[in-house]
Amino acid sequence: RQRVFSGVQPTGTLHLGNYLGAIRNWVKMQDLYDTYFCVVDLHAITMPHEPRDLLEATRKSAALYLASGIDPEKAAIFVQSHVSAHAELAWLLQCYTPIGWLRRMIQFKEKSQKQNAEEVGAGLLTYPVLMAADILLYGTDLVPVGEDQRQHIELARDIAERFNHKFGGSKWKKLGGRGGKIFKIPEAFMPPAGARVMSLSDGTSKMSKSAESDASRINLLDPPDVLANKIKRAKTDAFKGLEYDNPDRPEATNLITIYSLVTGMSTEAAAEEVCDLSWGEFKPRLADAVVAHLEPLQQRYNLIMEDKSYLDEVLAKGAGDAEEAANRTLNNVRQAMGFQPRP
Ligand code: ATP
Ligand code: MG
Repeated sequence: RQRVFSGVQPTGTLHLGNYLGAIRNWVKMQDLYDTYFCVVDLHAITMPHEPRDLLEATRKSAALYLASGIDPEKAAIFVQSHVSAHAELAWLLQCYTPIGWLRRMIQFKEKSQKQNAEEVGAGLLTYPVLMAADILLYGTDLVPVGEDQRQHIELARDIAERFNHKFGGSKWKKLGGRGGKIFKIPEAFMPPAGARVMSLSDGTSKMSKSAESDASRINLLDPPDVLANKIKRAKTDAFKGLEYDNPDRPEATNLITIYSLVTGMSTEAAAEEVCDLSWGEFKPRLADAVVAHLEPLQQRYNLIMEDKSYLDEVLAKGAGDAEEAANRTLNNVRQAMGFQPRP
């Protein structure tokens, strides 16, 4: 079976963008593929962080994977820092990744601008290499992610190709390896709709965990009244009626997209249903639909959080399964690079 790997950083609570862009597709994929879903905590320290917040966000994220419908019998659910192969492979790959490739990453440019230049950690620059390591360790075929990660997946492909070329094939065979490719070349998998859910306060920037204003995002764990209030206050425009896909109306496009995804309608059907409504009529309808969609997820989440040992068991089993697969790849890499086997 083909392999699937993906993850979310525990940098805050998961929002509707993470869910519609990534996690919801993971749930569908777990029946068709060998799946590895990771809480990528090592990524969460590339921006300044609070230890207590990280600890809490990591458990919450894992519980939200389960509440979203990821089944630990089908998928490996684990925490990245529990499998040390991720950090090790990242180092090995970093040494062969040109800095110029990393400086070009849009997210590095954006996130480094949010900080004082003196304080930008080196990890913010090299983070996409860690992400390449995450993916390549599992011989991943498909990486279900949102649109904003496309460039990082491209980079992971470039890193893998370059590495295979440099260390794979007959050179590796002479060192006792099986020869051929060391890494499989992964591909991004994006949903036709929902790959880029936009902020509630600005239809041209993406919804983000790390955006300053909590009012800009729909968190999966927001209570119904908070959700309704955020949607009520979401940015609107002065046009009459509602339209999908008018470039001058990004907010309308975004909210109709969300409406279609949480109701299960096509975007066309959703747009037709609401086209004659005013913003004031549409927003409560959207809020009800979002609340109804998130309610069962929130109920499952609360149950999962009641039983500490259940989540621990899931994460322990997931780490064990992941480690086994990851170490196989890591050992190949070490061998191909000429590292001395441990006696
Ligand atoms: P941060 O602001 O800390 O980077 P984030 O909201 O961008 O947080 P990530 O943990 O970086 O979330 O990304 C996790 C997954 O969610 C990735 O697959 C990413 O592509 C996807 N994702 C993030 N934001 C959105 C969005 N607005 N729409 C669709 N998918 C998204
Ligand atoms: Mg992000």
